Amino acid sequence: MMDRRFVLKALALSMGGLLLPGSMVHAAMSRPRITDVRFASTPNRTRIIFSLNQEIKHSLATLRDPDRVVLDLQNTELSSDLNLLSFTDPIVRKVRTDSLGNGTMRAVFELQDEASSRAFLLKDKEGERPRLVIEFTATETRDTADADTAAQPVKSEKPLMARKGRRDIVIVLDPGHGGIDPGAIGSGGVKEKDVALSVAKQVAREINATPGFKAYLTRNEDRFVGLSRRCAIARNHKADLFISLHADAFHIPSARGASVYCLSERGRRNAVPANNKSFMLGNTLLSAIANTPSLSLHFKTTKQARFAVLKTQEIPSVLVEMAFLSNHQEEMLLRKSSHQASLAKAVTVGAKNFAQKTGLA
Ligand SMILES: [Zn+2]
Repeated sequence: MMDRRFVLKALALSMGGLLLPGSMVHAAMSRPRITDVRFASTPNRTRIIFSLNQEIKHSLATLRDPDRVVLDLQNTELSSDLNLLSFTDPIVRKVRTDSLGNGTMRAVFELQDEASSRAFLLKDKEGERPRLVIEFTATETRDTADADTAAQPVKSEKPLMARKGRRDIVIVLDPGHGGIDPGAIGSGGVKEKDVALSVAKQVAREINATPGFKAYLTRNEDRFVGLSRRCAIARNHKADLFISLHADAFHIPSARGASVYCLSERGRRNAVPANNKSFMLGNTLLSAIANTPSLSLHFKTTKQARFAVLKTQEIPSVLVEMAFLSNHQEEMLLRKSSHQASLAKAVTVGAKNFAQKTGLA
């Protein structure tokens, strides 16, 4: 939740800057204008929210081939700089705007796939400016959307439960590092990026061999992938869960065993996990590791941290440090295919158990 707010704020700020050059603010006092743009999304629903200085007349039309939604705003000025907006969203692919010349501003939302859309005005309450909300709901899970959620925050949704019996459970595996970024390197030369990729590929194979499950990798070769790109891949695949695989390094060479981290709200020791399902996923993976005789744990509970790669909004996300490359014994184990197979098995079992526990499977 924290992360989405942050992204929205950042986006709103950047767009506010684009939309409202100083001269325009003063010149257009009497005309309706958009003072802020926000963007919120869950796997099933995306909202683009225009904050207004006064109520605005709008119309919405849906066009097919390609799927797109056209919004006309009467007597509204808007810089065409909105075209520069780029974001990654499972439903809306692109937004572009045009001025139709008669004062009407047209925004065209290009969709990834068929989606239902509606626009509604949230009227000015005490001290609050009116907002125009354009809402897109994925057609695939349309019947799960509450009819009266107009005034509710997007976070009230339960996208995970909505998919039961409808589609494969999607697990995105994220092998850490890659390419120019080797991650930790053991004294024997074993690189974190190689171990992570090898184990992730095995987990993907096992998951893809299970009916009802589908695995994707954020990289399937030795190449560099940025952290935000990794999150975007998870969102694009509408991941039900996200598991990042790493190997630890520590200055005390005796440190050993696996650890699991989930994202915390503030990175503090007692902070509430940003996504409780992440915490649950972490604990399920820990039990699977603990139940594998050849594996050992470093921390016995899910730890919390602020890894950028875990910022995948509503997707339960964890980061697994499979062992310590700084421990020579563990480095030698990490290199062995039998040990990699045990790790892959534990992660697969943990992921499937989580899916069962949370009603996904
Ligand atoms: Zn790492």
